[in-house]
Parts: sequence; structure tokens; C-alpha cells
Amino acid sequence: NMLVQVQNLSKAYRRGQTIVSALQDVTLGVKAGEFCAFVGPSGCGKSTLLNLIGGLDRPTSGAIAIENRPVTHASATEWTRLRRELIGIVFQAFHLIPGLTVGENVALPLLLRGERGAAVAERVNEVLAAVRMDRRRSHRPGELSGGEQQRVAIARAIVHRPRLVLADEPTGNLDSKQGADIVSLFRTLPQRFGHSVLLVTHSESAADAADYVWHMRDGRLVNCVRH
Ligand code: ADP
Ligand code: ADP
Repeated sequence: NMLVQVQNLSKAYRRGQTIVSALQDVTLGVKAGEFCAFVGPSGCGKSTLLNLIGGLDRPTSGAIAIENRPVTHASATEWTRLRRELIGIVFQAFHLIPGLTVGENVALPLLLRGERGAAVAERVNEVLAAVRMDRRRSHRPGELSGGEQQRVAIARAIVHRPRLVLADEPTGNLDSKQGADIVSLFRTLPQRFGHSVLLVTHSESAADAADYVWHMRDGRLVNCVRH
């Protein structure tokens, strides 16, 4: 019943003549509905771990399975399909499309799956209401605060009913009040929608909301605190 299994995962980058080890021998499991945070200083490998689990980067060694499906050697096309089916991603910089309205941005993952019609509009309204942005459906991202843009990005990440939501420093561009609001959404939305959350952050207070907090240092998991 593990949603994500990571086994002895390592990643090394080449930088000029030297090899930089970004992630070393990481093993962990995430169950359905769990909220896990990864905390540690800049450069400790948090983003690398998240990018490997989301198929945005490829490991040097080790294995990844999602819903008991080995995905370590999945092709780019297979990863695209996996993300469309199973994974939603939230970034620090929101990455909303400026020329589209809030509603159009959130509908996009459903349209990419070939869904059309009234069911799309209904689902968009449901997730926008869940992040308290249903009254901003016709606004453009540029008309919203950072916190509001991140709430829209969260709606877009969950609209296609992913099993797994990956969030890389989602509060990094927000003030502390907006950041706390975003963290509380990551805490409460899984109870309603059933997905797991993997949150990367350098903020101990953001990580405090998680069920499990993994501390990272020099590319390794150093300890896990369960709340
Ligand atoms: P964090 O997210 O904890 O700040 P990262 O995972 O971004 O850490 O980076 C871990 C280490 O890997 C750092 O030393 C970083 O400079 C290096 N690194 C990350 N991505 C690359 C890359 N594409 N090429 C070379 N080095 C990288
Ligand atoms: P963050 O701290 O939010 O992860 P970074 O500025 O560290 O942001 O990284 C932004 C992007 O650059 C990431 O995709 C990361 O993999 C890549 N990156 C990080 N460090 C390096 C590096 N030394 N060389 C090349 N790419 C890097």
C-alpha cells in the first residue's frame, strides 16, 4: 500500500571536471494520504529528490516505484503520462500562464487529458472553491497577490485527481501570513481529496504541519520526525 517507494536513490551531476553528488543513497516510502516534508539548508538535495520522484530528472542509481509500478527507467513520454494521471506539481514561482484566466489555468490539466464539457467546469469550480478562489475565476494571474496565485496553482495541481502532489518551496515567494495559509491548505486538502503531499522547504515552521519531517544534509536523509 505504498504510494511512492524510493530505494537507494542517488544523483550526481557533472560540473566541469568534477562530479557533484546531489543525492546519496536515499531510501523512503510514502503511503497514500500522507503529508511528508523535506527540510534542510539550500543545496542539500531537496529539489533533486523531488525532481527525481516527479520524473523531471533521472537518477544516477537506485529505484523509484509509484503505486508499485517501477518507474526508474520510464521514458519522457511515460513520465508525461504518469504526471497527467497521478502527479500534481506546485513550484515556488507559481508558473501560471499569464494570458489565461484563473479558470482556464486550472482547467488545463483536464483539457490535456482530453476531458471536455460541463464536467470540466464543475471540477474547476470544486477545486477553486476548495482553495477559496472560486470568486476569482475570470481574473488573470497578474491581478492576484502571490498567495492567491499559489492557491490557484494548488487548484491546478489537484484538479485531475492526482494521487501525489509535489511542492518545491511553495511558500518561498510569499510573506509569512500567506505562506502559513498555503501550508494549511497542504495540510487540509488531502483529507478531502485523498492525495499524498511531498513538500520541500527550508522553513522548519512550514515543515511542522507535515505528518513526517525528513531532515536532509549533504544529499542524505539524516532523521525523520513523526508528528
Ligand atoms: P536544494 O533543493 O536542497 O537547495 P538541490 O537539490 O537544488 O538542493 O541541489 C543539490 C546539489 O546539487 C547542489 O550542490 C546543487 O548545486 C547541485 N545541482 C542541482 N541541480 C544541478 C544541476 N542541474 N547541475 C549541476 N548541479 C546541480
Ligand atoms: P531551488 O533552490 O529553488 O532549488 P536553484 O536556484 O537551486 O533553486 O535551482 C534552480 C534550478 O537550477 C533547478 O532546476 C536545479 O536543478 C538547477 N541547478 C541548481 N544548481 C545548479 C548548478 N550548480 N548547475 C546547474 N543547474 C543547477
